[in-house]
Amino acid sequence: IICPCFNEEASINQFYSTVSTIVKNERFDFEFIFINDGSSDNTKNIIESIIGLDKRVKLINLSRNFGKEAALSAGIDYCSGSAAIPIDIDLQDPPELITSFIKEWQKGFDVVVAKRRSRKSDSFLKEFSALLYYRTHNLVSEVKIPENVGDFRLISRKVINTIRSLPENQRFMKGIFSWVGFSTKVVEYDRPARISGDSSFNSRKLFKLALDGITSFSTFPIRIWLYIGLTIATFSALYGLWIIFRTLIYGADAPGYASTIVIILFFGGLQLTVLGLLGEYIGRIYLEAKRRPNYIVDDTNITDNPYKHES
Ligand code: UDP
Ligand code: MG
Repeated sequence: IICPCFNEEASINQFYSTVSTIVKNERFDFEFIFINDGSSDNTKNIIESIIGLDKRVKLINLSRNFGKEAALSAGIDYCSGSAAIPIDIDLQDPPELITSFIKEWQKGFDVVVAKRRSRKSDSFLKEFSALLYYRTHNLVSEVKIPENVGDFRLISRKVINTIRSLPENQRFMKGIFSWVGFSTKVVEYDRPARISGDSSFNSRKLFKLALDGITSFSTFPIRIWLYIGLTIATFSALYGLWIIFRTLIYGADAPGYASTIVIILFFGGLQLTVLGLLGEYIGRIYLEAKRRPNYIVDDTNITDNPYKHES
């Protein structure tokens, strides 16, 4: 069970007791990997106190807040199970589903994903922007992300190892999970509200995540401008010829101020947009080229990771 935590002191105990009751009935061994993603509250101490009682509990303490995607990567890198289940700590991902996940995994599926039937617990704005985002992403990227599917899922060792072997540093997990493929089973559920605290994703973080998703899985946004540019250039050339022709026949018509300004502004805007887009991709290349790890572990009680990689 992989659980990224960022300032979750109020949720951890309830999460741990709920989940451990559920997994008690399973005939598999479990480990709980909590990733403390640079929390500034008591998260770390609470996890440590649970470790005192339950040896299955592991803690990866990151050196600062790296974001959920990075925290999840850390969990995936350090887990030692035949399968892993990333789950949110706020019980918005119903742990009861773990039982169905395992059932499907035993049938041979490598990925079992939880798909929310409704987003009742989310605000209208979040629901709407999520829908808009999924539609846009899927329109422009070759790798589709299923709508209303989060990180809550079961992945088999095969999938874990595949994800770990990917060379890229910036991990957009939703995209990577879909990109790797493998036999997948979907399980549906209703998403409840958070048990305590507020979502740590504000609109700015969500927008960044959306942009990361699209720019890391699609080159459509930079390719499309070539076609738009060519089309506009063709029309401008025709229009230019027409103006020359008209001037030759009827002489110069003085005003033309409005159309000139409109054209200048329009192209100015277009050029800035395209420059911005190019910047976005170049920025990604730059970040990728630096080969910095996407998280730094401060300390951890995981000493015997059989899959530990040397990096
Ligand atoms: N989280 C994290 N690092 C962050 C932000 C969030 O590890 O920088 C964790 C958080 O503790 C929770 C999960 O990611 O377990 C989902 O976060 P949240 O519930 O705030 O997001 P939402 O449910 O609104 O998508
Ligand atoms: Mg949540």
